[in-house]
Amino acid sequence: MPSQPTATDVKAYATDLGAHLVGIASAATLNAFPPDPRVPQTPERISPHAKSVIVIAQRIPVGAFRCKRNDPVQYIDMLVMRRMDKIAYRLSDWLEGQGHPTFVTAAQETDWNYKRASYGRLSTRHLGIEAGLGTFGLEVNILSPEFGPRLYLTGILTELELEPDAIMTEQVCIGESCSRCLHACPSDAVRHFGIDKRACAVEAQEYGFSTMLKFWDRFLKAERAEKAAMFTSREVLGTWQGFLRVVGSFGDCPRCLAVCPVGNDYHAHLADIQKVIPEKTPDKQAMAKEFKAARKLGDEVPGLDDWNVRWVGPEGYQGIVARQLQAFKKLQAERTEEGTES
Ligand code: SF4
Ligand code: SF4
Repeated sequence: MPSQPTATDVKAYATDLGAHLVGIASAATLNAFPPDPRVPQTPERISPHAKSVIVIAQRIPVGAFRCKRNDPVQYIDMLVMRRMDKIAYRLSDWLEGQGHPTFVTAAQETDWNYKRASYGRLSTRHLGIEAGLGTFGLEVNILSPEFGPRLYLTGILTELELEPDAIMTEQVCIGESCSRCLHACPSDAVRHFGIDKRACAVEAQEYGFSTMLKFWDRFLKAERAEKAAMFTSREVLGTWQGFLRVVGSFGDCPRCLAVCPVGNDYHAHLADIQKVIPEKTPDKQAMAKEFKAARKLGDEVPGLDDWNVRWVGPEGYQGIVARQLQAFKKLQAERTEEGTES
């Protein structure tokens, strides 16, 4: 007779294993609300038996966002994902040990049959939101109140029925009046609660799959002398580093993550050095203004339509970041006072 761990048991075990955030989404809800109904990224397309998806998140250490270069974020991303996968595997093994078939999917996989861009069989951002861990940012990353967008997520699919968490209805993202992610984006990829994935990939996957395909296409067509030169090109080094350590091939651009003012990690360690955004231009400011006006007027915005607003937060922004900052400052003041007294 299998034992029946509850949602509380599962979360406690995941936290003991080192998960920074844990939530639970019902597979039925995920099946009913695919991110894009034309290409459903749903549990039932993977397993008709899955009842619940346990979603765990690992934060990206904030120190990497204080550097002058991008490669520390790229390297630490790989370590974060490895750790996350280990936690997910141990959790699934624990549940199977109690009689409940459970498995983990590759968190950052891409299925080219979906949209010929970076779309996996499940969207981890949507999993996290359905598991109550956050809501969409303007750049459609998931923003958790704890760490903003500086995290990775994965899903553990189980045949055990677990009490799901409630989806957040309050928008965590400050929204159009902030637009810091839009201002910082080097490839103008941020849309109004949307993203131009191809434009983003130019920066975020400099030596990703598409770059590698283009390189080999050129290589096959090149003359012998040119081929020899191509072997020592930057693309080969970039691809090699990508294979070896993910560096350069994935999550390459940290700018929208670094400047997002959501999360106590931002208040504590990023607010000072990320305050000024060097990439900000008058054109980007004008675009943010247009977004703000469109939202105010209730214009039709694809990212905010009746289907997508579920993940943006239907109640709109109610001041969660301001409340968080106040509480953070209060705590800091109390700590300083305690330090003075001791
Ligand atoms: S990852 Fe970089 S390129 Fe992509 S949306 Fe964010 S800031 Fe723009
Ligand atoms: S930077 Fe501002 S607008 Fe962009 S996701 Fe973060 S809170 Fe939202």
